[in-house]
Amino acid sequence: MAKKQFAIIGLGRFGSSVAKFLSEMGYEVLAIDENEELVQDVAHIVTHAVSADSTDEEAVRALGIRNFDVVVVAIGQDIQASILTTLILKDLGVKQIIVKAQNELHGKVLSKIGADKVIFPERDMGLRVAHHLVSPNILEHIELSNDYSIVEMKVPSQIVGRNLKQLDIRVKYNCNVLAVKRDGEMNITPHPDESLNSEDVLVIVGRNDQLNRLEQAYAEP
Ligand code: ATP
Repeated sequence: MAKKQFAIIGLGRFGSSVAKFLSEMGYEVLAIDENEELVQDVAHIVTHAVSADSTDEEAVRALGIRNFDVVVVAIGQDIQASILTTLILKDLGVKQIIVKAQNELHGKVLSKIGADKVIFPERDMGLRVAHHLVSPNILEHIELSNDYSIVEMKVPSQIVGRNLKQLDIRVKYNCNVLAVKRDGEMNITPHPDESLNSEDVLVIVGRNDQLNRLEQAYAEP
């Protein structure tokens, strides 16, 4: 199967790092910005880099944007440009449009006009940092919906040597341990009687309020 092809519109800090990492992973990337300097900055990294105004429908069409599997709109400050660009991409029939939103309202508008996925990088990173600050054992926090998340939690010192049966996370916190990561291996059928060690990482799914309770209960003193 041919590798996916990506177009990134807006080469600020976010867009340029998406473009850079996709290129490093061997994907074909078209990088677009109206600022020629930013285009030059990534020209040596990505497959094609062009300077264009993405609110100009003819210019966007001429770039053959329809042929890309995924288009990421990473325009932040100029909400109007972000919305117009998304509309144009939608009209041109782009298969998957992912758009960075500046705030909740911007996000709502983007969803309404047909963005396939709306992302809030600053908000999500803020949430992760906050969780990590409250409980340094939390290595990763992934929102599944407004109410549910998955967290990766380093086994806190107070439960080293105990097992999943003794912790009884399902009954006490209404959360499920999906997997235990040990030595880089993911065990998706962890044995309830097996002792946990300090290097293990628990992958837990649950309601946010219950996960918060669990995180606080297991926060190191
Ligand atoms: P960062 O990712 O750095 O946080 P940001 O969210 O502040 O960025 P902006 O700097 O507003 O976003 O926009 C990102 C880039 O999008 C800028 O480099 C800007 O030149 C580009 N951009 C804005 N409007 C357009 C447009 N109509 N066509 C092409 N590029 C545009």
